[in-house]
Amino acid sequence: MERIAWNQYFMAQSHLLSFRSTCTRLTVGATIVRDKRIIAGGYNGSIAGGVHCIDEGCYVIDNHCVRTIHAEMNALLQCAKFGVPTENAEMYVTHFPCLQCCKAIIQAGIKTVYYANDYKNHPYAIELFEQAGVRVEQVFFHPQSLDGLSQQKRDFVQMLLTILQESGLEDNHLIALQEQADMLFTRK
Ligand SMILES: [Zn+2]
Ligand SMILES: [Zn+2]
Repeated sequence: MERIAWNQYFMAQSHLLSFRSTCTRLTVGATIVRDKRIIAGGYNGSIAGGVHCIDEGCYVIDNHCVRTIHAEMNALLQCAKFGVPTENAEMYVTHFPCLQCCKAIIQAGIKTVYYANDYKNHPYAIELFEQAGVRVEQVFFHPQSLDGLSQQKRDFVQMLLTILQESGLEDNHLIALQEQADMLFTRK
């Protein structure tokens, strides 16, 4: 059994958190890590006790949903609430942080931001991260790394495709099936 790499482990945690998001516009998760330990996590959602976008619809002003607190902010506020230092910590986030979150991340002393997906990467946010000496690195998340049977599943599908080929399925159908299989197993 292969051990999951640290960056995949923390990125998986952020993706797991994103499933808790209550805003339908974008589901984001963020994990704050210090010394290879998870110290906080957040997802984008309403304030505690507030109504949820998934129930009431988004509250959109200027093309932004103003109801939610962003995942990065929620993770940082969790640290504030419980008095956990964020200085020199790292953040793993499913999407490139917006400008507001970027500033909060810098000001909280986060030193490295790992993000999985590009999302309107604001040039000013990139500039601010650079100025502040915050390292920003894209880390693709591979869900397959969480599935211990991933290779077996892949081999099994490949075997079925070979059987289909040998039993005379037309090439154009085979190619389409192969493409679907490749998409399933290499999806980021
Ligand atoms: Zn919303
Ligand atoms: Zn944000």
